[in-house]
Amino acid sequence: NRRIVLARRPEGEPGVEDFRLEAGPVPEPGPGEMLCRTLYLSVDPYMRGRMNAGPSYAPSVGLGDVMVGGSVSRVLASRLEGYVPGDLVAGFNGWQDYALSDGTRIRRVDPELAPPPAFLGALGMTGLTAYVGLFDIADPQPGETVAVAAAAGAVGSMVVQLATLRGCRVVAIAGSPAKCGYLREVLGADVALDYHDPNFPETLEAACPQGIDVYFENVGGAVFEAVLPLLNIGARVPVCGQIAHYNDSGNPLPGPDSLPRLMMWVLGRRLRMQGFIVGDHLDRLPDFVREMGGWLREGRIRHYEDIVDGLENAPAAFIDMLRGGNLGKRLIRVVPE
Ligand code: NDP
Repeated sequence: NRRIVLARRPEGEPGVEDFRLEAGPVPEPGPGEMLCRTLYLSVDPYMRGRMNAGPSYAPSVGLGDVMVGGSVSRVLASRLEGYVPGDLVAGFNGWQDYALSDGTRIRRVDPELAPPPAFLGALGMTGLTAYVGLFDIADPQPGETVAVAAAAGAVGSMVVQLATLRGCRVVAIAGSPAKCGYLREVLGADVALDYHDPNFPETLEAACPQGIDVYFENVGGAVFEAVLPLLNIGARVPVCGQIAHYNDSGNPLPGPDSLPRLMMWVLGRRLRMQGFIVGDHLDRLPDFVREMGGWLREGRIRHYEDIVDGLENAPAAFIDMLRGGNLGKRLIRVVPE
């Protein structure tokens, strides 16, 4: 059983040397357990926070412990009622070849609904994040302008398409001309802008003649700085992520204090900003699976998984994703289905 453990806590950007590949025996399921063979692993930005010692919104991974993470697995042996060898399940088995499960936080994967990798993306945690953040928290109305950054990634690519389905005007923000082309031509964004463009604040303003009604906040940093003055009165800002800051160390952060400026905008524009964590919204899973499953089947929502082969490549693929090397949902294929 190969597994990837946290070897060191990174300062700033993580490196492959912060992880270690280990091998051990394949575990035997006890009563009430099943043995799962990992087929796909998810690598996600939140894992950067779990590499730190202090708690983020989720507990940190201990040194020498297996990296946490979502997985799609095949049941190899089962002493757990309701599961038989051959079943496909989605869960949180971590960065390893095999894992035991007692059924906690396990969902069945129905390949009739979508291909198994989609249960880690469009029909999984990142899809639910987009669905809850956009529909429940922001509730955009047809004709409103919705802006989203990291728009070509797992959550963002769903936000773009869900907002388009709602009849909104979508302004997508991403890190390369190729991603912007994909957002316009494949996902149907009305506008797609590269935030590395030195004139980004001006091009964003020009792209939003009616201002911004909903900003789905994935990134923070310079993108949020450019968005803030364009937010309309009563704009909604579901705060989903702050990836521009996950490698920052130290608290409070160094630099000029921009809090008063932010709060003046919140007040003056009557902004409604709400942080949310997808795990608090699992009651929405049945509605989400029904609606999203339908849209996927009808081809109204496209999903793309950016798959890297080999458990041993998970650390490099994770680091590359944090830097923007992914398009759509970055996954690791541990073994072929
Ligand atoms: P993505 O697939 O979007 O991958 C991360 C992307 O972030 C990269 O591809 C890169 O795209 C972008 N990025 C990296 N650094 C910066 C930066 N400095 N400024 C702007 N963009 C940057 O990941 P996810 O879809 O899984 O996650 C997106 C966000 O949603 C993250 O902040 C994540 O933490 C958050 N999230 C929150 C959840 C919640 O429950 N609140 C649940 C799931 C995700 P680019 O090339 O465009 O720079």
